Amino acid sequence: MLDRDTLRILEEAAKRLDAGFASLPGFRAELPGRERLMEVLAEVAERLQDNYPYFHPLYAGQMLKPPHPVARLAYALAMWVNPNNHALDGGRASSAMEKEAVAQIAAMFGRKDFLGHLCSGGTMANLEALWVAGQVHPGKKIVASEQAHYTHGRICGVLKEEFEAIPCDPRGRMDVAALASRLARGDVGTVVATMGTTATGSVDPLPEILALRERHGFRLHADAAYGGYFVLADNLEGPARQAFARLGEADSIVIDPHKHGLQPYGCGCVLFRDPAVGRFYKHDSPYTYFSSTELHLGEISLECSRPGASAVALWATQELLPLTKGGEFAKSLSLGRRAALALYEKLKTEAYFITAFAPELDILIFAPRAESVSQASALSRKIFDAAAQRGLHFAVADLPVKFFENSNKPWKRDRESVTCLRSVLMKPEHLDWVDRIWELLRTAAREAGVPGSAAESAI
Ligand SMILES: *Cc1c(COP(=O)(O)O)cnc(C)c1O
Repeated sequence: MLDRDTLRILEEAAKRLDAGFASLPGFRAELPGRERLMEVLAEVAERLQDNYPYFHPLYAGQMLKPPHPVARLAYALAMWVNPNNHALDGGRASSAMEKEAVAQIAAMFGRKDFLGHLCSGGTMANLEALWVAGQVHPGKKIVASEQAHYTHGRICGVLKEEFEAIPCDPRGRMDVAALASRLARGDVGTVVATMGTTATGSVDPLPEILALRERHGFRLHADAAYGGYFVLADNLEGPARQAFARLGEADSIVIDPHKHGLQPYGCGCVLFRDPAVGRFYKHDSPYTYFSSTELHLGEISLECSRPGASAVALWATQELLPLTKGGEFAKSLSLGRRAALALYEKLKTEAYFITAFAPELDILIFAPRAESVSQASALSRKIFDAAAQRGLHFAVADLPVKFFENSNKPWKRDRESVTCLRSVLMKPEHLDWVDRIWELLRTAAREAGVPGSAAESAI
């Protein structure tokens, strides 16, 4: 199942890297005994089996997909050097690669002049964006939708900024009317638009929010940690497409290469439209910046030591799979979205499932039909377990009941939130596996005792 063929390529590349240091006086790094090394690694291989099979198409639960082989190999190769992208002294080549890779991401959003860098993930990237936002509008509130990632409220706590949630509409997008009336009170400094919520992949209505920015002059931060790369997809519906088309107009953008960008964990990215915000990062380091007067990435990031290997892996991935519309990478995003739409259509054919709104990206939510919300919630967990028994892995999520009540009320509303099933179909292989996933899901529903599912199966 796991790719091992490419290990030979790594050996060739390591030889090539080694050759670059041939002029140094001979030196041999101390190696541990080969046998003990093998023993320990064998134990690691055993222990790592205690995981869901994230790499497999039947894993369709959380936002997990394997890094591209080129990212894995480039990361491993960089480990022999272990560069630190804090300062040029620690990683010259990898710092240059970071600047190039980040410029390519900015270009994907149509931006040439920007300030940006990689960081450990979406949390850190959002922290930097909201920290800058707080410096630009001191004492003013930061608002995000109630479906925004929970990290925003928590980050505001860390930064001692006041945070408020704006209600969502029944499709999980920020309710623009609610935002407009909140803005009228005059104390909001920053609006966070989520470009693909973590729970449902809903895309906040950016064009309308941009229109409100014209009137109110707030700072607009786009959290595109999950959805950012969909700017390249060719199969989004109108509202999402229009929102992504204007993403470059946000004052700051966060995107996670370790989610949809085929990278190992530890790779987030923050971009600022106005490079002058670099002034907030100013610091006096007595020991790091000796080697040159060029920009050191540590001068524009909050984290100090950072893995140069992350930048190397990202650079290599974008070299192989450029971030262009119509390119191979863009096509693989579109495939995942097609898989989500295909599964959504299948769910609609069985009366014992309740679908919510059509997916805007590649995330799908659905629930079993039952007499009450609490019964549906209990059944969701049973389906989750029954599917897992058969090797199919979904996720469960607690979401507002209104997401499932678009046309009529399918149940007795004895709770305001329902535990539903959630599937992230983010691997390009998912499209070919939709039929298999669907069959396993129907079986799981029967085994969980979802009312109506047994009768259906008899036909
Ligand atoms: C995943 C996610 C985050 C948090 O990012 P991490 O990389 O997990 O730290 C923030 N916002 C959104 C919308 C996300 O999907």
